[in-house]
Amino acid sequence: MSLATQRAGWSYLPLRAAAFVALTCATILGVSGWREWAARDAVLRGAEMEMANVTRSLTQHAEDSLDLLDSGVVGTVSRIEMDGTGPETITKLGNVLEARKKAVPRIHNFAIIDEHGNWLTAPGTTASTLSDDAFFRYHQLSPKREPFVGRPVKSLLEGEWVVTLSRRFNKPDGSFGGVVLATISSRYLARFYEQFEIGRNSSAALVHGDGLIIARNPSNEKFVGHSVADTPLFRDASLQRPSGVYHFKSPLDGAERLSFYKRSSRYPLVMLATLDKEELLAPWRAAAISRMLYVVALVMLIAIIGAVLVRQLQRGQRMAAALVEKEAHFRLLAEGSSDMVTRIGLDERLRYVSPSSIRVVGWRANQLIGTPALAGINPEDLPEVQGIVDAMKRGEREEARLIYRNSHRKNGEVWLESTMRVTRKDNGRVDGVVAISRDITEHKKLETRLETLAIEDSLTGLANRRRFDERLKEEWARAYRDRSSLALLMIDVDHFKAYNDEYGHPAGDACLRLVAKIIAAETQRAGDLAARYGGEEFAMLLPNTDAAGCALVGERIRTAIHEAGLAHSSNLASGCVTVSVGGATCRPALERTAGVASLVEAADRALYAAKDAGRNRLMMSGELMSLMPKASGQ
Ligand code: GH3
Ligand code: MG
Ligand code: MG
Repeated sequence: MSLATQRAGWSYLPLRAAAFVALTCATILGVSGWREWAARDAVLRGAEMEMANVTRSLTQHAEDSLDLLDSGVVGTVSRIEMDGTGPETITKLGNVLEARKKAVPRIHNFAIIDEHGNWLTAPGTTASTLSDDAFFRYHQLSPKREPFVGRPVKSLLEGEWVVTLSRRFNKPDGSFGGVVLATISSRYLARFYEQFEIGRNSSAALVHGDGLIIARNPSNEKFVGHSVADTPLFRDASLQRPSGVYHFKSPLDGAERLSFYKRSSRYPLVMLATLDKEELLAPWRAAAISRMLYVVALVMLIAIIGAVLVRQLQRGQRMAAALVEKEAHFRLLAEGSSDMVTRIGLDERLRYVSPSSIRVVGWRANQLIGTPALAGINPEDLPEVQGIVDAMKRGEREEARLIYRNSHRKNGEVWLESTMRVTRKDNGRVDGVVAISRDITEHKKLETRLETLAIEDSLTGLANRRRFDERLKEEWARAYRDRSSLALLMIDVDHFKAYNDEYGHPAGDACLRLVAKIIAAETQRAGDLAARYGGEEFAMLLPNTDAAGCALVGERIRTAIHEAGLAHSSNLASGCVTVSVGGATCRPALERTAGVASLVEAADRALYAAKDAGRNRLMMSGELMSLMPKASGQ
């Protein structure tokens, strides 16, 4: 995977996490909603089953009731057709029917009606005629012997709503003889329906085939006789099946209702049970709402936690990006720099080395990482560096600047200058040291050269006057401390002006170089210093040397130069280059009032004494007398 693709994937991560959280929430809500909807469906399905059973039972009850009525009617019809409608027969039949009516509570009444529509039985209603009633006209006109179930009517006797079941009876000649009628009370049916608990806003109703309500629970009195012929149950072709269910919106209160119907196969009756959907679903709704509240609370919790996580992810990402940028800057600095950047762990091993290590120490970064950081340091410089690194590790020093020698893979040894700084963890504890090292070998060389130039005489290579003055002061102080003696020789070429004049200035320079070389050869002890004091005048500083030692060295120098035999024709006494030497010694500790200048003056005076005495000789200050015969003897 490329870096760009990785970055893109990384930057889309919070978005993906947010999408995942949203999907999880949506799934939980979706699944819960679907389950609740399924539960609702189950409630409706259960109610349909239950109501189908109820309507079947009630239809059966209605049919049984009419069968009961019909058995009485059939018996009476056959009796009349056998015995005629004589008063005796009618009275007998009236008694039988009365007894039967008392025995069976669902029978409201029995009546026998003659061919003109007049009551033959039934009490107290003889005045009225039934010739206009629908059932009477039906039987009058139809020869059919089947029972006829009439529309609900209001009984003329008690004003109660009843349903009639009637059959015609024939005279012996086969003509219409009258009607035997049995009725069942609407109230009885409604009371019977009360036994079935079908809910507050629900109802059970028995409807006549032509749409008039026969009985209804509840509010039987209000609805009986009303027509429902214009409802879908009677109008919709799809509902003209023996039984079924249909949903509708009540035109009265606008509530959703469920109706279950069953048509009687034998009588023109339809049993109708109607449920209020709201009421039916109320327990489910209450449970579903409380369950969904839990689910919604859970989803909100997930959403909140998800949002917090997504924010943290975004923040982490921003921090990581900042870190990457910071590291890029750091790498640019570390890797673009000609200085070598290293990071040293507490175990003093290199953790990071910038690529410029190849230039600075000759090794590649990957060859150095993991190796001891101080391995290449010159053993002479190591203790100092080690001491500083230890102090930094202990947290006693924050930073340090060091100059030391370090081995280079190809160039032997190089001088390095390192700036070191402690690095700390978040908790403030030291976790390493960062060192920025540069090669200062060239600088060091130049410095050494400058130092040499500052103290060396360019013509002769001896110490120059400045160096001589410094050393004189130092040696004076040391001799003072050590209570030792300090000796000084002043050496001056004889008749050198004449040498220049005769051989030329360059030859003069060569002469001076030779004299210097001879003098330098006589510096045998480490502390001795030969210097060009000025012009053709030299000085030799001899620490810890007494007068005798000083005279010995001075005489050796003088002899050596003389014996070198460099031609100098103007020096008439010898014909070669000679020098005059003045020597002086002192013990600074014993000569409290005397200073550095007094030693130089003493040696100078001795030198001039030697010149005065004829040159090419040594004179010692203070011991002048004892030395003179020896020098003059040469
Ligand atoms: P004396 O024996 O009394 O010392 O006589 P002198 O000629 O040596 O003394 P003087 O001090 O008069 O002359 C010193 C001469 O040394 C003068 C100068 O030309 C010469 N001289 C000084 N420095 C240099 C130098 O660096 N190179 C050359 N070639 N000559 C130098
Ligand atoms: Mg001189
Ligand atoms: Mg001279």
